[in-house]
This record gives sequence, C-alpha cells and structure tokens, in this order.
Amino acid sequence: MGGKKLNLAVDMNGCPNRCLHCWLGHMPNRKMEEGSDRFIVGFFSPYFDQIAYYSWLREPDYCDDYEERWKRDLEISRNAVPERFELASFYRIVRDENYIPFLRSVGVKKVQLTFFGLESTQDRYVGRKGAYQEVVRATELLISGGIVPRWQCFINEENREEIVQLFRMAKEIRRERCPGLEFFVHEGSCDGENRKLYPIRIEKHHIPDELKEVFLNYDRILSEAECCRMLTDDSSSPVFRIGNEITLNVSNGFDVYYNFTHMTEPWKIGNLKTDEPDKLVRDILSGNTPALNATNRCAWSELTHEYGDPSSDRVFSLDDYKMYLFNEYLIRRMPGQ
Ligand code: SF4
Repeated sequence: MGGKKLNLAVDMNGCPNRCLHCWLGHMPNRKMEEGSDRFIVGFFSPYFDQIAYYSWLREPDYCDDYEERWKRDLEISRNAVPERFELASFYRIVRDENYIPFLRSVGVKKVQLTFFGLESTQDRYVGRKGAYQEVVRATELLISGGIVPRWQCFINEENREEIVQLFRMAKEIRRERCPGLEFFVHEGSCDGENRKLYPIRIEKHHIPDELKEVFLNYDRILSEAECCRMLTDDSSSPVFRIGNEITLNVSNGFDVYYNFTHMTEPWKIGNLKTDEPDKLVRDILSGNTPALNATNRCAWSELTHEYGDPSSDRVFSLDDYKMYLFNEYLIRRMPGQ
C-alpha cells in the first residue's frame, strides 16, 4: 500500500507485572508459538511497503533471548526500523548482568521506570512483592551502567503524599549521584485497568504544590467539571483518524486492535488466524470495528450529559476525558466489554 507505514506491537511473551493502572488491560501471559512473527509480517506484507515489527506489546525484553529477539525484530521488519523508546524491563535489569550492556549496545541512553508510591503501595500497584526494591535497585544499576533513569510517577488521591516523598528522593539522587535523573508526575489516562481507579483519581485542588513544577502539562490539565463545561454544547461526534502511519496491537491470540485505547471486544478489528487478509486490511483502513461504527451515534454533548460528573474535580486532559466518556458509552451499550 503506497506510502502507508504499519507498526506491529505483538504480545509474544507477556509481562511479569499486573499494574493497577495498565492502560492495555490485564491479559494472560502466553508465549506465542515459533514462527508467529514471520506469519504476522507475511500477513501484512502484500499490503504495506513499510512494516516495523515489535515482538513485545507489554514488557519489552521479558524473554530470556532478548538479544536474539531484537535482532530478529530488525531482520523481519520491512523498510522500517523498530525503535527502543527509552523503555526497558526493570524485572530483567535486576536479574541479568548482561542486560544493561545490551541496552547500551543498542543505543539506549535513558530508561523510564514507573512508580506508584513507596514500598507497600508500589508492590500492590505492580502486583508483585519486591517490585519497589527492584525499581530502586534498577535506578542504581542504570546510573552505574551509564544510562540515565527517568522516574515517571502516577498520582492519585491515595498515593499523592508518597509521590512527594519520591520527588524528594529523586532530588537527593540528583544531588549525590546523577544530576541528569529525570522525574515527572501525571494523572494517567482512564483506559484499561486505570478506569477502575476513577473513584480515587487525583483532584485538581489536591495536587501538592511541591509537585506542580514536575506535573506533566500542568498548565493544560482540566478538572472533570471543566471538561464537562467544554463539551456540554458540542454536538460533534468522536473522531479517530487512521492516518498514513497505523499502529496495531496484536494479542497473543492473534486478535488485532488499534492502539487508541484498551483491547476489548468493541475495539477488536479482527483475528489474523481466522480472518481473510483482504477483508481484515480493508477493515483496518476503513475503521470497521463495533466501536468506530458507533461514533456517529454519539455526540459529545450527549455523552457528557449522560456520563459526565459536572461537580467533579478529578483531573484529565481533554482527550483522555473524551476517551473515558466514549468507553463509558461502549461499556454500557455494548456487550462484551
Ligand atoms: S503497565 Fe506495562 S508493565 Fe504494567 S502490567 Fe501493563 S504492560 Fe505490564
């Protein structure tokens, strides 16, 4: 397909974590069978000139043969090079001494590590005992291995004071060992598992003053009440653009989704094993999914009236709030979410 680029993110190995904020939604771990990668690239090759193949959708480098795996991703991609995105596996950083040298060898200069709070909060949010100690240890190992860590913190009503303490810890590490250590805080989207945290979403007037300078896009965040005011007279419908670069998430059962939001039934485009390629590619390009076919039955004003809370001080970006409203509609109106 002239001029179109396809990025494929395939859940070939799963993830060791079960984060309470996971925007993709929790899925069972299942190692995909040998040859799945070539089958998937082959499926799309007649239709796309450029294909970047990623053998991970959740935790990068979770498989033991991550080095071979990376080479294979490069090899089977077509006229495109997959990126590293400053992401890595903290699970592997603390278990495999060859991993940081590997990251450096493929050009990684920064790695993002995610925090939800101090020890017991972090362990509970990641879903594994020891997760807090692992990210702290991963920070040290990255610094001594010549890679700059970036701490990203998800804040909510429950953990806001702990995030302040993490910021103070980060400042100490900057002073003592790593002046370049990056730190930022954000509220997160409201898809996947994170939807379930809506009741404890951070309220605008509860954002600690100390964190405002490191809060992502602080000047542009809105309360839910402000979002409702902006949308209450908006008669337009949700629009999802399928441009010249398409990114697809592929589950370990070969189900295909756009990367707009979580991977649930209304968002499923089809299945690589059971659907006929011409039809599936047509559906991808035209947006033929139950969710996208429902957009013209919705107007923002109606969704806001029905599902918005005009008295809420919970924090959103406008786009995340729109996705929250539209998914609320799908959950209530469409079975299988
Ligand atoms: S957020 Fe990332 S690390 Fe956490 S469960 Fe989801 S995919 Fe795994």
